[in-house]
Amino acid sequence: MQLDVVTIFPEMFPGVLGASILKRAQASGRLRIAVHDLRAYTHDRRRTVDDRPYGGGPGMVMRVEPIAEAVEAIRAGCRKARHRSCRTILLTPSGERLTSSVAKELSGAAHLILICGHYEGVDERVRELVVDRSLSIGDYVLTGGELPAMVLIDCVARFVPGVIGHRQATVEESFSAGWLEYPQYTRPPAFRKQAVPEVLRSGDHERIARWRTLQAAARTLATRPDLVTNGNRRRGPRQRRG
Ligand code: SAM
Repeated sequence: MQLDVVTIFPEMFPGVLGASILKRAQASGRLRIAVHDLRAYTHDRRRTVDDRPYGGGPGMVMRVEPIAEAVEAIRAGCRKARHRSCRTILLTPSGERLTSSVAKELSGAAHLILICGHYEGVDERVRELVVDRSLSIGDYVLTGGELPAMVLIDCVARFVPGVIGHRQATVEESFSAGWLEYPQYTRPPAFRKQAVPEVLRSGDHERIARWRTLQAAARTLATRPDLVTNGNRRRGPRQRRG
C-alpha cells in the first residue's frame, strides 16, 4: 500500500514512521510512505500556505491552491490512480469518525493521500475539489492534522496483510467484534499482593473462555455501554484461544 502525506510539518513524521511495526512494514515493502512538504507547492517567495478567512473571524485558513496542486501532483505520479483505488483523505474534526471498520475498509485501497490541516482548517474547496473522504480521530480539536494522520496510518497498517505478525491479532482485539477486550496478564503470577486470576493458570480452556467472555462483557458495559446499545449485543466479545 502507498501512503502519501501532505503537511507543513514533515519533520514530525520520521520518529513515528521510523520505529517498530511501521518501520518493518516499510522495510518489507508492504507499506510505502512518502511525506510531502506542502510549501513545495507554493509559488511566492514567502511560501505562503494560509490566508485570512472570508467573512472575518479569528485565525487563518489554509489556501486551496497549494493543497490542490500537491494532491494532483501525487495522483499524477500514481499508476494506481487509474484503478480508482487512490483515495484522498482530509483529516478534520468535522469528518466521519475513524473506527476499526473504517480503517479496515481503507486498508483495501492501493493508495491513500492524507491531507493535514492547520490553523482554523482548510478552505472548503479542498473538500469539494480533491477530497474523497473526511475523517476525524475523535471529538476533540488538535493543533494540526499530523497526529491524526499518524494515527490513521498506524490503524490502517494493522489491517494490511502481513504487517502484523499474528494473523488473528486484528480479529480478536477491542472493537473488532464490537466489544472491548478482556483483561490480559503475564508473568509474574503475583506482584505486590496482586495475583493473576486463578482461572487463567488452570489450563482449563473452557473455563478460561467463559471467564474472558464475562470480563469483556463487564468491561464493555462499565466503560463503553454505547458499544452494546449500538447493536453489538448479538455478537458478543471475541475469544482468544488459549
Ligand atoms: N477550526 C477547526 C474546527 O473547528 O473544526 C479546527 C481546526 S484544527 C485547530 C487544525 C487542524 O488539525 C484541522 O484542520 C485538522 O487537520 C487537524 N485536526 C484537529 N483535530 C482533529 C481531529 N479530531 N481529527 C482529525 N483532524 C484533526
